[in-house]
Amino acid sequence: MSVDRTLLEIDGLSKEFPTDDSFLSGVLGTRGYLKAVQDVSLSIDKGETLALVGESGSGKSTLANLVTGLHEPTAGDVRFEGESLETATSRTQDTLADIGMVFQNPKGSLDPRVTVRKAIKEPMHAAGWSRERREERVDELMDIVDLQSNFGSRYPNELSGGQAQRVAIARAVALDPKLLVLDEPVSALDVSVQAKILNLLMKLQDELDLTYLFIAHDLNVVEHIADRVAVMYLGKIMEVAPTEQLFENPSHPYTESLLSAIPEITPGGQNDRIVLQEDPPSPVNPPSGCVFHTRCPAAEERCTREVPDGHEVDDGESRCHFAEEVYASE
Ligand code: SF4
Repeated sequence: MSVDRTLLEIDGLSKEFPTDDSFLSGVLGTRGYLKAVQDVSLSIDKGETLALVGESGSGKSTLANLVTGLHEPTAGDVRFEGESLETATSRTQDTLADIGMVFQNPKGSLDPRVTVRKAIKEPMHAAGWSRERREERVDELMDIVDLQSNFGSRYPNELSGGQAQRVAIARAVALDPKLLVLDEPVSALDVSVQAKILNLLMKLQDELDLTYLFIAHDLNVVEHIADRVAVMYLGKIMEVAPTEQLFENPSHPYTESLLSAIPEITPGGQNDRIVLQEDPPSPVNPPSGCVFHTRCPAAEERCTREVPDGHEVDDGESRCHFAEEVYASE
């Protein structure tokens, strides 16, 4: 009997935001649309960590918000354990409990007037847990995220960034979710603290049987935590591959440029950094053909008119017309 390992399926997902909500622009047909996410399809297996990386403005956080139900898609579908998810307001209590979220700025995600214990208890309170069960679970959670019990009476301004992120993680796992969406969970922290939080996340994944969608703006952070990496640019997925394959042998020029920005990636010295020309184009008016062509060092004439299909390369997929050549060139 085959066992379906897929936990989350994202199928042809798109999200557009109007740039001007006025009645007049609607009537005159002059309203523009910011294409934050364009036709994204991805799946995540149970117990897997899929990292989603790309520059700021590439659509990563919008995609996270579509998964958690904070945004409604313009097109496409998100399925969790085979069931289509609606928006957050129409999701059942069970579905809401199944997907937890950790945000980038731990202090900003905590109410400054609420103590640590109360903050961790909030999701359980909202889910209607009894007082006794909540108290018991808070003790358990503080232990799980390595926070001493005397932290329970502290307020967010009495916590370091790392301690605040531990509280945010405890809240996110309070209802025993199956999937955690981690939106840049370490990018606001010092490098030494980043490593501790990443270790904590790996430990929790093991102990609590969690699946992660891990969002980061650079590849450096995800190398040790991700099983697979999806690279996003201007709302589209450029490449998805197992982490080792993607780091050792990328098959998309955009991935190559991101990797070249990591100084320590090659033993014995600096990479030759690929400096991309120009700023990313506006997602209101994305380029024709391959959306990366205005900055791609390998672009050819056809790239300006033909949208690349997904090419299977080894165990990954790349949306570049020359994916096989890029892969073979490493
Ligand atoms: Fe560059 Fe063309 Fe490949 Fe796009 S399709 S990444 S422009 S070479």
